[in-house]
Amino acid sequence: MIHETIVSASRCPRCRRLVVPPAPSCPDHGLRMEPDSVPGVGEVVSFTTLHSPPEGFRSPLHIALIELEGGARLFCHGDETRGIKIGSRVAVEAVDAIFYFSSLSFADRARLFWRRAGARGEKVTAITKSVVKGIWKGRSRG
Ligand SMILES: [Zn+2]
Repeated sequence: MIHETIVSASRCPRCRRLVVPPAPSCPDHGLRMEPDSVPGVGEVVSFTTLHSPPEGFRSPLHIALIELEGGARLFCHGDETRGIKIGSRVAVEAVDAIFYFSSLSFADRARLFWRRAGARGEKVTAITKSVVKGIWKGRSRG
Protein backbone atom coordinates (compact mmCIF):
# COMPACT_ATOMS: atom_id res chain seq x y z
CA MET A 1 0.00 0.00 0.00
CA ILE A 2 1.34 3.40 -0.92
CA HIS A 3 1.10 6.16 1.67
CA GLU A 4 2.49 9.19 -0.11
CA THR A 5 0.44 12.20 0.83
CA ILE A 6 0.79 15.95 0.88
CA VAL A 7 1.39 17.56 4.26
CA SER A 8 0.33 21.15 4.99
CA ALA A 9 3.20 23.45 5.85
CA SER A 10 4.03 27.13 6.08
CA ARG A 11 7.02 28.93 4.63
CA CYS A 12 8.77 32.11 5.72
CA PRO A 13 8.91 34.61 2.84
CA ARG A 14 12.31 35.87 4.08
CA CYS A 15 14.39 32.82 5.10
CA ARG A 16 12.29 30.21 3.22
CA ARG A 17 12.11 28.14 6.40
CA LEU A 18 9.48 25.43 6.14
CA VAL A 19 7.41 24.59 9.20
CA VAL A 20 5.12 21.57 9.69
CA PRO A 21 2.41 21.75 10.93
CA PRO A 22 1.85 25.28 9.58
CA ALA A 23 2.59 28.12 11.98
CA PRO A 24 1.28 31.69 11.72
CA SER A 25 4.73 33.23 12.07
CA CYS A 26 8.37 32.26 11.42
CA PRO A 27 10.12 30.90 14.54
CA ASP A 28 13.24 32.84 13.49
CA HIS A 29 11.86 36.27 12.56
CA GLY A 30 8.23 36.30 13.67
CA LEU A 31 7.38 37.18 10.09
CA ARG A 32 3.96 36.12 8.82
CA MET A 33 4.33 32.76 7.03
CA GLU A 34 2.77 31.75 3.73
CA PRO A 35 0.85 28.50 3.32
CA ASP A 36 2.78 25.75 1.56
CA SER A 37 2.84 21.99 1.34
CA VAL A 38 5.39 19.18 1.15
CA PRO A 39 5.23 15.55 0.08
CA GLY A 40 4.59 13.29 3.07
CA VAL A 41 7.90 11.51 2.73
CA GLY A 42 10.79 12.00 5.08
CA GLU A 43 13.79 10.60 6.87
CA VAL A 44 14.04 9.34 10.43
CA VAL A 45 16.25 11.65 12.51
CA SER A 46 15.67 9.81 15.77
CA PHE A 47 13.07 7.60 17.35
CA THR A 48 12.00 6.27 20.69
CA THR A 49 9.42 4.01 22.28
CA LEU A 50 7.48 5.14 25.32
CA HIS A 51 6.33 2.26 27.46
CA SER A 52 4.45 4.60 29.80
CA PRO A 53 2.89 7.04 27.34
CA PRO A 54 0.75 10.00 28.37
CA GLU A 55 -2.87 9.31 29.15
CA GLY A 56 -5.00 8.65 26.10
CA PHE A 57 -2.21 6.96 24.14
CA ARG A 58 -1.84 3.26 23.83
CA SER A 59 1.29 1.53 25.02
CA PRO A 60 3.89 1.12 23.71
CA LEU A 61 3.90 4.42 21.86
CA HIS A 62 6.44 4.82 19.11
CA ILE A 63 7.57 8.33 18.38
CA ALA A 64 9.95 9.39 15.66
CA LEU A 65 11.43 12.74 14.74
CA ILE A 66 11.10 12.94 10.98
CA GLU A 67 12.72 15.41 8.64
CA LEU A 68 10.60 16.08 5.58
CA GLU A 69 11.81 17.24 2.19
CA GLY A 70 12.51 20.93 2.60
CA GLY A 71 13.95 20.49 6.08
CA ALA A 72 10.85 20.71 8.30
CA ARG A 73 11.09 18.40 11.32
CA LEU A 74 8.16 17.01 13.22
CA PHE A 75 7.32 14.32 15.72
CA CYS A 76 5.21 11.47 14.42
CA HIS A 77 3.53 8.49 15.99
CA GLY A 78 4.02 5.06 14.52
CA ASP A 79 2.55 1.59 14.86
CA GLU A 80 5.97 0.01 15.07
CA THR A 81 9.61 0.85 14.84
CA ARG A 82 10.70 -2.57 13.64
CA GLY A 83 12.96 -2.16 10.65
CA ILE A 84 13.19 1.59 11.29
CA LYS A 85 16.69 3.02 11.55
CA ILE A 86 18.05 6.53 11.68
CA GLY A 87 18.05 7.61 8.07
CA SER A 88 15.16 5.31 7.04
CA ARG A 89 12.76 6.77 4.51
CA VAL A 90 9.23 6.84 5.88
CA ALA A 91 5.83 8.01 4.76
CA VAL A 92 4.17 10.70 6.88
CA GLU A 93 0.45 11.26 7.06
CA ALA A 94 -1.67 13.61 9.17
CA VAL A 95 -4.84 12.18 10.67
CA ASP A 96 -6.88 14.56 12.84
CA ALA A 97 -3.86 16.85 13.37
CA ILE A 98 -1.70 13.94 14.58
CA PHE A 99 1.16 12.87 12.36
CA TYR A 100 1.85 9.22 11.78
CA PHE A 101 4.82 7.61 10.14
CA SER A 102 5.03 4.26 8.44
CA SER A 103 7.95 2.53 6.87
CA LEU A 104 8.18 2.57 3.13
CA SER A 105 8.58 -0.93 1.85
CA PHE A 106 10.91 -1.58 -1.03
CA ALA A 107 7.89 -1.84 -3.33
CA ASP A 108 6.53 1.53 -2.13
CA ARG A 109 9.89 3.15 -2.74
CA ALA A 110 10.01 1.68 -6.22
CA ARG A 111 6.50 2.98 -6.90
CA LEU A 112 7.41 6.43 -5.63
CA PHE A 113 10.37 6.41 -7.95
CA TRP A 114 8.23 5.47 -10.91
CA ARG A 115 5.57 8.00 -10.00
CA ARG A 116 8.20 10.72 -9.99
CA ALA A 117 9.55 9.50 -13.31
CA GLY A 118 5.94 9.46 -14.50
CA ALA A 119 5.43 13.12 -13.60
CA ARG A 120 8.50 14.01 -15.63
CA GLY A 121 7.25 11.80 -18.42
CA GLU A 122 3.98 13.75 -18.56
CA LYS A 123 5.86 17.03 -18.78
CA VAL A 124 7.91 15.71 -21.66
CA THR A 125 4.73 14.52 -23.38
CA ALA A 126 3.16 17.99 -22.99
CA ILE A 127 6.23 19.68 -24.46
CA THR A 128 6.31 17.20 -27.32
CA LYS A 129 2.63 17.87 -28.03
CA SER A 130 3.10 21.63 -28.21
CA VAL A 131 6.14 21.23 -30.47
CA VAL A 132 4.18 18.94 -32.77
CA LYS A 133 1.29 21.45 -32.77
CA GLY A 134 3.69 24.23 -33.76
CA ILE A 135 5.03 22.17 -36.65
CA TRP A 136 1.49 21.35 -37.74
CA LYS A 137 0.44 25.04 -37.63
CA GLY A 138 3.50 26.04 -39.66
CA ARG A 139 2.72 23.42 -42.27
CA SER A 140 -0.94 24.32 -42.63
CA ARG A 141 -0.02 28.00 -43.08
CA GLY A 142 2.53 27.24 -45.77
ZN1 LIG B 1 12.10 33.43 8.65
